[in-house]
Amino acid sequence: MKLFSETLNTSTIKPTRVLDIANTGNNYIPIDLSETNEKLKDVDVSSSESFNQYIESYLRAHNGDVAYGGYLELRNIYKRSLHFNQQDVHTERNIHLGLDLWCPEGTKVLAALDGEIHSFKNNTNYGDYGPTIILKHQVEGLEFYTLYGHLSLESIASVTVGEKVKQGQSIGTLGEAQVNGDYPPHLHFQIIKDLQGLQGDYPGVCSKVDLEFYKTNCPDPNLLLGLN
Ligand SMILES: [Zn+2]
Repeated sequence: MKLFSETLNTSTIKPTRVLDIANTGNNYIPIDLSETNEKLKDVDVSSSESFNQYIESYLRAHNGDVAYGGYLELRNIYKRSLHFNQQDVHTERNIHLGLDLWCPEGTKVLAALDGEIHSFKNNTNYGDYGPTIILKHQVEGLEFYTLYGHLSLESIASVTVGEKVKQGQSIGTLGEAQVNGDYPPHLHFQIIKDLQGLQGDYPGVCSKVDLEFYKTNCPDPNLLLGLN
């Protein structure tokens, strides 16, 4: 049986975008936020302010509008919050399952594909997503979901479950640190095959022991975005 990621990869879905910023030229630049990035060792990532300075200077230095990356990245930045089980080395959640796109607060977030609003929620744990929208899609017989995390409060103020959305339609805007779980502004974009009954939330970070399941259930979001 073909894996979900393989089916998605060979389907006729064309690269799409989830931010209202053109992805041409050097606008999108990769960023490494893994524990092996030496430069991050000098940054206090427990403070969204100093973390934000790092992101902004990185964008400036690389002449970028959006810094992206992080799928299956092993990160130290979750150690600051108990929400990620950092008290137990075996179940500590530190492997990132989505793709993060770092760019200014207020940037419009677009639906990756045609679909409908499955659910939404403000996930208010420290370090969590804050306002989150999940879309449901049916593409060529495949049913799956896309999750948009770290939105603004306005994004979920007037949204309705079951509402149809078109590919490229604005579904919200990026939130600021005060509402987005205390991070520099960014979109957490994740593909999910089986939502496991959840509403407006799904793990975006997992532990090593659960990685095999999650990486099959949540393939690389860049399958849809085609960034390189
Ligand atoms: Zn993320």
